[in-house]
Amino acid sequence: MQNVTLHDKSFRPFLTEKEIQDAIKQLAKQLQKDYQDSNPIFIGILNGSFLFTADLVREFEGDCEVTFLRMASYEGTESTGDVQTVLGIKEDIKNRNIVIIEDIVDTGNTVEKLYETLSKEQPSSLKIATLLFKPNAYQKDIPIDYVAITVGNEFLVGYGLDYDGLGRNLKDIYIIND
Ligand code: 5GP
Ligand code: MG
Repeated sequence: MQNVTLHDKSFRPFLTEKEIQDAIKQLAKQLQKDYQDSNPIFIGILNGSFLFTADLVREFEGDCEVTFLRMASYEGTESTGDVQTVLGIKEDIKNRNIVIIEDIVDTGNTVEKLYETLSKEQPSSLKIATLLFKPNAYQKDIPIDYVAITVGNEFLVGYGLDYDGLGRNLKDIYIIND
């Protein structure tokens, strides 16, 4: 694997496609066990989680529904902390088992906002699954129920994660060179 340059920044290899896919399979097994026969609704958070959601749900055997929500809190490589409002979903989530699918949980602003918004719809359960978790950056009390890979605070790109629009299509995950 080689370094990549996106806009003005360079990134070095951090997680291989295989490491990512293995972690997703592990997570899918856990979800499989916890949501067997309960027809959960997986809600992928766009844009970052489009690949993760696609790969995760293909590892989930049994009935499930899949939908997407859009929010944003990042400009460039720093969280603005200014989480935009949730764009509504058509599905009725009342009395359903909901799993929010995030690419990465950083400060927690995004999941907090999502959690508050979706809780109001009275789902019978509401859990969070994330591909990547930055525990040292996390500032909220909401439990992050399912974590595939724990990482440090550095800015990452690839596998859905972008730097100002670029890098989402990379199969591996890269870390910023500073
Ligand atoms: P939070 O609201 O938890 O601070 O940030 C969550 C969102 O910020 C993620 O869904 C993701 O879009 C973005 N984000 C957080 N950390 C990173 C990172 O290391 N790289 C990229 N590309 N986006 C990140
Ligand atoms: Mg995101």
